[in-house]
Amino acid sequence: MATLAGKVALVTGASRGIGAAIARRLAAEGASVAITYARDADAASQVVRDIESAGGKAIAIRADAADAAAVTAAVERAVSAFGKLDVLVNNAGTAIPKPFEEATLEEMDRMIDINLRGVLVATHTALRQMRDGGRIITIGSSVGERMMTPGLAAYAATKGAVKMFTQGLAREVAARGITVNNVQPGPIDTDLNPVAGDWATPQIANTALKRYGHVNDIAAMVAFVAGPEAGFITGASLTVDGGTNA
Ligand code: NDP
Repeated sequence: MATLAGKVALVTGASRGIGAAIARRLAAEGASVAITYARDADAASQVVRDIESAGGKAIAIRADAADAAAVTAAVERAVSAFGKLDVLVNNAGTAIPKPFEEATLEEMDRMIDINLRGVLVATHTALRQMRDGGRIITIGSSVGERMMTPGLAAYAATKGAVKMFTQGLAREVAARGITVNNVQPGPIDTDLNPVAGDWATPQIANTALKRYGHVNDIAAMVAFVAGPEAGFITGASLTVDGGTNA
């Protein structure tokens, strides 16, 4: 059964990686899906084509998550394309791994602007458009709760911030039946965190399962939280990390 039939979802940062898997999965569950991307228009178009050729509806919108005006316009464009908004997935994010003492102010600002400010702006605009009973889902990180990987101190700070934003907002919008949740991936094989590489070795060692996860592991959790059976889950951080934080 299509659990999201008739719903409209916006997934930020969905031309590749976890976001693209989420967009495909929500569309497979029956949602019309708007995706945003920053640079790779061809990859975004491919996600749209894949969804359409499977019988779904999708559009791609260029919107840098660090650009508040572009993010606001993207939310409005999704609503004008599909008539409403039921689900926002704040997925766009970036990491610039390096020892904190070597990080530049520009690098710190970049992570804050995309991983935190972009989430606040997209959510703020979406809440004005969202119907009662909607879903706000943010992709945080297992490092937003427990830190074992050197080089991610500033990134972890942004992910800890979205965890607390989720908890605070859940209480504010509950009267509208809107749930707010934070899905926290552990190591997932993407361009941002490829399984082939020196940086992967300590991350694998930190998992209980001794392996990376797949983008579809996160998409499955997001689809569940977006769906009708998750109506009593709000303010939660749902960790999908192969036991990294166990
Ligand atoms: P990728 O780098 O593989 O993909 C990032 C996606 O986001 C691309 O579609 C990219 O679009 C888009 N994007 C990047 N920067 C921006 C921006 N400024 N504005 C809008 N879109 C942007 O990342 P992942 O799929 O690995 O990560 C997705 C989310 O999951 C992030 O929030 C990340 O922090 C989180 N996460 C990932 C983990 C992992 O191990 N992979 C672990 C824990 C959390 P474009 O191609 O146009 O640049």
